[in-house]
This record gives sequence, structure tokens and C-alpha cells, in this order.
Amino acid sequence: MSEGVDLFGAPLRAERKPWYSPSRLKTFFDCPRKYEFSVVRKLPTLPSPHFDLGTNVHAALRDWLGLRPSQRTRENLIEFHRAAWRKNRPAFANRSRDELRTWGERGNAMLLRYADAVAPDLEPVMIEKLVSADYGDVVVGGRVDRVDELPDGSLRVIDYKTGKFPKSPARFREEDLAAPVYARATSGAFAGTPVSEVELQYLESGESLVFTIDEAWQAHKDLAVVSAANAVRAAEKSQAFEPRPSRLCEWCDFRQRCPEGKAFLDASPSPR
Ligand code: SF4
Repeated sequence: MSEGVDLFGAPLRAERKPWYSPSRLKTFFDCPRKYEFSVVRKLPTLPSPHFDLGTNVHAALRDWLGLRPSQRTRENLIEFHRAAWRKNRPAFANRSRDELRTWGERGNAMLLRYADAVAPDLEPVMIEKLVSADYGDVVVGGRVDRVDELPDGSLRVIDYKTGKFPKSPARFREEDLAAPVYARATSGAFAGTPVSEVELQYLESGESLVFTIDEAWQAHKDLAVVSAANAVRAAEKSQAFEPRPSRLCEWCDFRQRCPEGKAFLDASPSPR
């Protein structure tokens, strides 16, 4: 992308453009009403130990990989994790010591597995940075966990996941918009250096989902990103956020204030 134009070659305009992240686009895709509650109205969400776990594990990895390779040990990785929990006051406000210990040990197990698997001489070229790409009328971006330089000079973007590996990787790949945004935005942050891979690393199981990036795939996905962002913009303009009840309502923080979600769950009780 040359300076002064968006990725479709149109001149960049000076005014501030709407900004979206892939996770916001996904929230809207899952349920526009949920997007309204969480992003537009910014209603508070319920405390989530899983969210705290993710935040603290990411913080530990960021601080640990910021050390020189020779300074990294299993012990200081766990110490960074402990420090992240200590700084995360809201996590303590909402749960018992036993619960915190359980979640902390779960995070430690993920981190030690990571420390054992990672190349001892790994020197990332970027750690936890916000990157974004201009898609014409909108900007889409997010926080990239790690970027490595590959032997051929191209880049690999790593995204850490503390959740479960997808049950249907094929469907996940089809619907995912994060990998193309990270590839596009990271390439822009490195003056157009190509990104050849985006790898989602599932820290609990050690599994990975790798997206191999080429121009045809990127162009196809760019259109999907623009289409998703335009759908969100249209809803924001018209203030029409239709509910989309599904099994996801079970985990939705707003189900108590959403008649459609409640009705769906009442009519189809959880199989769990
Ligand atoms: S309960 Fe279901 S339908 Fe309602 S906002 Fe949440 S996800 Fe959407």
C-alpha cells in the first residue's frame, strides 16, 4: 500500500474514519443486538475469570518475551504471571482465593507448556502492538501478540488463544476476519513487508491453526472485511440492531435484558 492511498488505491481522506476491530465485527456477526449492548451502549459485562486468565497470560508472555533469550526462565515466566494477577485488582474483587488459585494454576500450566515448546533463541520483531489497516471508508485493526521474521524475510503473526481449539477448524477459517486484518495491518506496520503466515496458538492444548497468506486469499478476505464493516456502519447509522438468537445466547452477558434471547433459551434448554 503506498502512502496516501487506501488498499484499494483511493486517496486517504483527512477526517477520522470509523474504527473497528475483528472482535467487534465478530460480535456484530454473532448478534447485532449484542453489539449494540456491548459496543454502542457500553453496558457493563459480567466478571469473567476466563477473561482475566487471558489478560494475565498475555501480559506474562509480553513481559517474558521482552527479555533477552538468555534471561528467560520458567521461573521468571511464572513470576510475570503472578505479577499480572496481582495488578489485576478487579479479578480479586469478584472471587475467592481458591477460585483464583485454580485459574492461576491453569494459566501457569499454559505458560510452562509454552516455555517448553518455544525456540530458546526466539527474538520477535514485534510484541503486543496495536496495528491497523485502512480499508477505504473504515479502518480495521487490533492488538497483535507477536511478530517473527522468517528466514525468507517475510513475517509470521502469532495470536495467543487461551480458549478451546475450534470444534470445526474449517468453519472457523471460513468465518474468521482477524487473520486477514492482522496480516494486512502488520504488513503495513513493516513498510509493506509481506506476512506469509498468521498462526493462532492455543496455549492450553498446544494446538495451532495456521493461515497461509497469499495475494488471492488476502484480496478475497479484504472484501469480506469491508463487507462486514459496512454492515456494522449501516446498522449504526439506522440504529437497527436486530437480535439473532442462537446457542450463543447461553453465554451472553445481556440475556437478562433481551426478551428474544430469553425466549430462545426457554424454548430450547441447554443440552449441557
Ligand atoms: S441474548 Fe442472544 S439474542 Fe439477545 S443479545 Fe445476547 S446473543 Fe443476542
